[in-house]
Amino acid sequence: MGSNRMNERVDVQLDALTGLRAAQPRPEPAPADLSGDGKTFYLETFGCQMNVHDSEKVAGVLLGRGYQQVETIDAAKLVLYNTCSIREKAAQKIYSRLGAYRKYAGEEKIIGVLGCVAQQEGEEIFERSPWVRLVCGSASYSKLPDLVAELEAGNRRVMGLDKDTDATFETEITRRDNPFRAYLTIIEGCDKACSYCVVPFTRGPERSRASALVLAEVRRLADAGYSEVQLLGQTVNSYSDPSSKKMTFAELLVAVAAVHGIRRVRFTTSHPRDFGRDIVEAIDSVPQLCDHVHLPVQSGSTRILREMLRTYTREEYLEKIAMIREARRPISVTSDIIVGFPGETEEDVEETLSLLDAAQYDGVFAFQYSPRPNTSAQHMPDAIPEEEKGRRLARVMDRQREIQRARNEALVGQTFEVLVDGASRREGQWSGRCSSNRILNFTSPRENLLGEYVPVRVSSSSPNCLVGEHAI
Ligand code: SAM
Ligand code: SF4
Repeated sequence: MGSNRMNERVDVQLDALTGLRAAQPRPEPAPADLSGDGKTFYLETFGCQMNVHDSEKVAGVLLGRGYQQVETIDAAKLVLYNTCSIREKAAQKIYSRLGAYRKYAGEEKIIGVLGCVAQQEGEEIFERSPWVRLVCGSASYSKLPDLVAELEAGNRRVMGLDKDTDATFETEITRRDNPFRAYLTIIEGCDKACSYCVVPFTRGPERSRASALVLAEVRRLADAGYSEVQLLGQTVNSYSDPSSKKMTFAELLVAVAAVHGIRRVRFTTSHPRDFGRDIVEAIDSVPQLCDHVHLPVQSGSTRILREMLRTYTREEYLEKIAMIREARRPISVTSDIIVGFPGETEEDVEETLSLLDAAQYDGVFAFQYSPRPNTSAQHMPDAIPEEEKGRRLARVMDRQREIQRARNEALVGQTFEVLVDGASRREGQWSGRCSSNRILNFTSPRENLLGEYVPVRVSSSSPNCLVGEHAI
């Protein structure tokens, strides 16, 4: 999806889904029985970290109701599909996937669609894929336990699509899939109105969780053995504590980092408008706060930024970058870029390329603009042809690759602390992430390193990763 994987954006198996066709005849769904034993579910996730974490919470809701998670559709009574609609391709492929599920319609399985496509398409999903029995949008997850209860009571079709929800998605149990990093949503929805973006429509208005609830969850995570947490929100730094404590985002970061047992705190995604000096000062003074900021710019052209309703100019954005670069410890910065926004000229593209030079990012996710329903950019004139978007994307990625090549080369010889999260099949080969979120593959004579923090000396580099040796 992006030009590298510094941040885990997970478009799970999207490509594998191409070519699946939605079938035409529309059979009535067969009765499904969710009572009694054998309550099993299969859950597949598409999209960003927010979706991955939503799925963890959905799994928690179901486990709390006595369900068992299974690895295959065949073994499941309830088949759930957590969807992403940020770009058109992702949304289209979901209908293809639903076409593939049709063959299960007569097998007493309940098929459900969750997430952003569910929120966006609503009843249309029942129309196009009548074998679907549950539709629950990403702004309505707090209703999910009730919806599941309705299914269990034998209701044929249930739907949760509230848009005005004040509630955040709180669960008693969250089934966390990543053994090394715990995700934690602190703010849901988005109140910005970027002209290209579907998120405010699919995830609803901004709702922050009370700081005490966030801290209580972090304590539980630390007690459960997690040492790294990642705070999530579409605009995580727009966090606004609804409780009387009125903690700022920077104060919350410091408080989370102070929880006993927590060694690393990450946060994503930050919106440039709300990114203040206090966040940099917090990172500078609290070692547990990771030295990485994901600060999407979207375009290097002030004219395009205005059309995108991003609320900052190129110069204002670069001032934020300068502020980050002035920190006492180096802070890695990554970004998102959209190419081919309507009306984008050759000069605008040049401005984006020169912004890459000026910002010196450590990683970039670059995307071709995709018109989305309900957004104000959807019908803007001067659409850029797909082929040209592809060329612009390649130019951005090529330039960024060279920047990363040079930046990573400069790290050779340095030693970083790595949280080991992967073992290669080859003996003695490990991988993990630095505080800066860079991936470091390394060799070590030691065994059983998974989950350990170890010092690694960088011996060579490529644009997307570092290679090194355990510095024993
Ligand atoms: N809230 C984050 C922010 O403001 O940067 C980003 C959330 S969005 C899930 C992740 C990225 O998808 C955006 O930063 C943007 O680059 C990209 N994106 C969003 N809408 C898009 C669209 N219509 N076409 C192409 N890329 C899009
Ligand atoms: Fe979308 Fe803009 Fe909100 Fe990010 S800040 S989720 S890009 S509307």
